[in-house]
Amino acid sequence: MSFRPRYLHRLTYPFRVLGMGLAALPIGVVLYDLQAGWPAWTWLVLSCGIWPHLAYLWARRSADPYAAEARNFLIDSILAGSWVPMMHFNLLPSAVLVIVVTADKVNSGIPRLWLRALPAMLLATLVVGMATGFEVDLASRTAVILACLPILAIHTLAVSSNIYRLMRRVQAQNLQLEEMTRRDGLTGVDSRGHWEQQARRLLQRHREESVPASLLLLDIDHFKTINDRHGHGVGDDVLRALAQRMRDTLPADGIRGRLGGDEFVVALALPTDQALAHAERLRAAVQALEFPDQPGLEISISVGLAAPPAAGDLRAWLEAADAALYRAKHGGRNRTEQLQPRETSHAP
Ligand code: GH3
Ligand code: MG
Repeated sequence: MSFRPRYLHRLTYPFRVLGMGLAALPIGVVLYDLQAGWPAWTWLVLSCGIWPHLAYLWARRSADPYAAEARNFLIDSILAGSWVPMMHFNLLPSAVLVIVVTADKVNSGIPRLWLRALPAMLLATLVVGMATGFEVDLASRTAVILACLPILAIHTLAVSSNIYRLMRRVQAQNLQLEEMTRRDGLTGVDSRGHWEQQARRLLQRHREESVPASLLLLDIDHFKTINDRHGHGVGDDVLRALAQRMRDTLPADGIRGRLGGDEFVVALALPTDQALAHAERLRAAVQALEFPDQPGLEISISVGLAAPPAAGDLRAWLEAADAALYRAKHGGRNRTEQLQPRETSHAP
């Protein structure tokens, strides 16, 4: 299903007023040269002066403004098609009109609208041509050429600046989207996918350049009970406060992420003895957390620490840290446990 902006008519309104208004110039000069009668001049006022406003009102009052605007685009093409024989096929203004209305269809973003508009435009040319006798005078004198310049210049610039504006908006939205996929919405630490990408890079640097590396896997103790006793909202506050403590106490270049639920992970470019000191500082900082609105609420975390396994990928490293965390939980919680390097290759 394609995108159907409800307010398409609002976007196209100024362009239609501008385009039709400027098209009136070369058409008027040709009509003057042809000494056209009042029906042609009336048609000019109707199609270039009144139609853009009528089109806007029509779409605005419609139950389906998008469909109404698509129909308006077809009518633009019918009007342009009608002007070609009325100008006796005067080459330059006829070509400009046909090109501009066709480009407008492409710019509208409505799939294949320009293609659907072509038969309507051709039919209008045929019908009006038959009614007016198919007179042909291709040559465009200088005044007609000059009268074509404003629509060519201004319409092209207006459409380009609109495209530029849209491109900037798309770029800004892409950045926003990228930021959203990189961050965990609740806590602001890295999302799981983004964290994994960076942790994989650290593991590779550890293997190729002997950069020290440690993994901390941390999980809030009895978080279910906190949720049950104090409510899910307070549970969320606890998750945010833990993430803040991770930012405050761990090294700035540590890669902090949320794996899901109350489980967080940090990859540090440090040997395990230093990582252990950081883990203990964090654990103490979390224990010191106070929630003035929730007297009696005490938080603790259990931490599993692991050096990279001798072989295996990030998953194996996470499994090693998970085994250490399991040991911390079963050892009574509120503690950091470390898996010795020889244990990492056969973690439970
Ligand atoms: P343990 O000490 O063994 O870790 O016990 P626990 O109660 O913390 O157990 P577990 O880690 O399995 O509990 C995770 C709970 O976290 C379960 C789920 O209801 C809750 N949870 C998951 N995501 C969110 C969240 O975004 N906000 C809140 N408030 N709770 C969450
Ligand atoms: Mg838990």
